[in-house]
Amino acid sequence: MTRTRFAPSPTGYLHVGGIRTALFAWLVARHDNGQFILRLEDTDKNREVEGSAQHLTDSLNALGLNYDEGPDVGGDSGPYRQSDRLDIYREWAQKLIDSGRAYADPYTAEEVQKFREQAQADKQPFLYRNHRPDTTEPWDGKTPLRFKSDPKSYEWHDEVMGNLHSGPEVIDDFILVKSDGYPTYNFAHIVDDHLMGVTHVIRGQEFISSLPNYLNLYEALGIEHPVFATMPPVMNDQGNKKLSKRDGAKDVLDYIKEGYLPETLISFIATLGWNDGTEQEVFTRDELIAKFSLDRVQKSGARFDEKRLLWMNGQFIRQLSLDDLWDRVAEFWPDTADSADHEFKRQVLALAQDRMKILHDLPALTTYFFAEPTPNWQMIDDNKQLGKLERTKHLELLDKAKTALESTDFNAEAIQSTLNDLLEQTGEKPGTLFSLIRFAITWAPFSPALPETMEILGREHTLERIQSAIDSGR
Ligand code: GLU
Repeated sequence: MTRTRFAPSPTGYLHVGGIRTALFAWLVARHDNGQFILRLEDTDKNREVEGSAQHLTDSLNALGLNYDEGPDVGGDSGPYRQSDRLDIYREWAQKLIDSGRAYADPYTAEEVQKFREQAQADKQPFLYRNHRPDTTEPWDGKTPLRFKSDPKSYEWHDEVMGNLHSGPEVIDDFILVKSDGYPTYNFAHIVDDHLMGVTHVIRGQEFISSLPNYLNLYEALGIEHPVFATMPPVMNDQGNKKLSKRDGAKDVLDYIKEGYLPETLISFIATLGWNDGTEQEVFTRDELIAKFSLDRVQKSGARFDEKRLLWMNGQFIRQLSLDDLWDRVAEFWPDTADSADHEFKRQVLALAQDRMKILHDLPALTTYFFAEPTPNWQMIDDNKQLGKLERTKHLELLDKAKTALESTDFNAEAIQSTLNDLLEQTGEKPGTLFSLIRFAITWAPFSPALPETMEILGREHTLERIQSAIDSGR
């Protein structure tokens, strides 16, 4: 039975790389009809950030990455918060002490510093194991407990990185339990993965160099190691350095707040370093579950392209049913829409659906349906085509449009044909004439299709707006 886990430390917000690790572990579990576990690794009390555990679970829930076992849902292999498992680590530490594979670290920080400096002066790498004390005092829990390593070479397989190997020089006596009584990550995760029956350890790159030491510890504990899969780094837009907050990468909950859909984020994040071997770029959750496999995760860094994310979100928004979209935009309407008629709002939404990239675009795309826009001729003067024409020309064209529309049936098709006749009559280009009318009606930088917009506004409003535009431009 496949069992994967996401094991975040509650030390801050969940960034894109973290979510991708969670997503891949979740996909492996769901693909295999296995289980996905959330384990909170809160043994570094100095780095803990208040509220981040809640933030982690909120982020997973927002994306629908449900876990079968975890701190807030329970399970048979709990507790799922490492700070609640200290007795378990003590018991496993004792096993190592009993078998002669762990010892009390006798040195003060100053002494260790001296060893380090000496190694540097000798141009030797510093290794704790070169300073193992001959006789060890029983461990009283007040000093660190160190692993007594057994330096050797290793070869192992990583599902993503392939076959890897290391020499004995990288094996050292690392700390198992710190002097504050908390285990290190290096020790705790091995005990936990074993006791929780984790079959696949899927995690970030920062741990790959420690793997030989972990293999050494698995051996000392007499336990089998799980399958390893190391995620490639997520790179910035240019692909030349690791993605950081400065590149604009936000917390996933911030993306949701702006109106990125969870399904977009899932599809986008899944394709940061994974593809199905075809040209397909957008995947539904079910497609991902069916198709995902670790052996198609790339080794090299994956580029975080926010423009692609935006594009993809538009794709997902257009695929939603109107009812579904309606439910999701509840908080995104402009305030002026509060008192508007339900059916009218649905029509407006259906129209805006074609142009929205994020749900937060809704106000900019629709305010003029609910409140009279203020004429702003600067927009027209700044327009590349319209800026070339005189004001008198603008007004003359608007006047013609108004006259033509007065005798038009107010449905999109008839409006379109009136507008086409007007093009012929005036000899203007669509980019000029239609933009002008669009500005006169919406005074917005962008808006949905013009004939449909007019149809929804209705004849009376449309003509009134064109008239106000003319009046304000005189
Ligand atoms: N607590 C580690 C971290 O947040 C987890 C690494 C792992 O997945 O084993 O980086």
